[in-house]
Amino acid sequence: MQCDRCQDQAAYTRKYSGVKLCSTCFSNSIVRKTAKTISKFNMIKNNELVAVAVSGGKDSLALLKIMQEMSTSHNFRIKAITIDEGIPGYRNEALEIVEKFCNELNVEHKVYSYKDLFELTLDQALDLRENEKTSSCTICGTLRRRAIDHAAKDIGANVIATGHNLDDTLQTFVINMLSGDTNKIGWMNPDTSTNTFRKIKPFCEIYEEEIVFYAFTNNIPFQSEPCPHMSEGIRTEIREFLNSLEKDHSGIKNSLYQSVIKLSEIVKESNYKQKTICEKCGNECTGNVCSVCNMVLKLKENQT
Ligand code: SF4
Ligand SMILES: [Zn+2]
Ligand SMILES: [Zn+2]
Repeated sequence: MQCDRCQDQAAYTRKYSGVKLCSTCFSNSIVRKTAKTISKFNMIKNNELVAVAVSGGKDSLALLKIMQEMSTSHNFRIKAITIDEGIPGYRNEALEIVEKFCNELNVEHKVYSYKDLFELTLDQALDLRENEKTSSCTICGTLRRRAIDHAAKDIGANVIATGHNLDDTLQTFVINMLSGDTNKIGWMNPDTSTNTFRKIKPFCEIYEEEIVFYAFTNNIPFQSEPCPHMSEGIRTEIREFLNSLEKDHSGIKNSLYQSVIKLSEIVKESNYKQKTICEKCGNECTGNVCSVCNMVLKLKENQT
């Protein structure tokens, strides 16, 4: 089987388009697609410092490699940040992998922990929740958002880049639909170019399995051990459901992604709420106190 772009042996077939690519042409196509997404949504402006959030998983390490390469030929700089949730036995391996990879790429790297920022590790926070209705990932995700914001501001970044891929976007969309949270669909629009402090997802138009193949074919050493809390939420079930649909109907994820883009634009425009400032932490929110401060305050009340 020959590559459709050169004379080499093909290593990957894109089922939804039928295109067959060798490892080099495949990697080039991922880099090109990432650059296209960045430019389509005006994700990065001239001279900006981008904080690349690196967890140690395949997506974030692949993103770091591509962003590092792009930063040498484009007019922006990058630094890496990692959040240590305090999950025993899980995060340590990832931290070592990230540290080593950042050294190889010559990228400055800084670690921020929940313990330092909230005086709680994730495991301590989970012990303090009122009941298990609030999932581990809900608590962890809320704290992580704040930790990443803090880290990016601390290093003086204008933009935060995360490795979320197309599959992550679709799963989040379905979770928001199933929980009746249509407001959040407006927040999913990838165009954040009018915000002064932006959160970007340069892989949001790339299938997860293509990022896996990119990481594999580029020998990126990622953490394979999943977080012990990973299967607690509904995300894993949705992921499997979407994968089974794609298996029988190639390209269905791309079609759903197009719907997400259109719907998120409509909801964003029709649901615009004036932002207020959280009276506890000074971050933007839509009420008096932001969701992160609310959660941390409730956990701390249970601690005493
Ligand atoms: S799987 Fe859930 S608990 Fe584990 S790191 Fe991710 S968000 Fe946090
Ligand atoms: Zn080729
Ligand atoms: Zn707050």
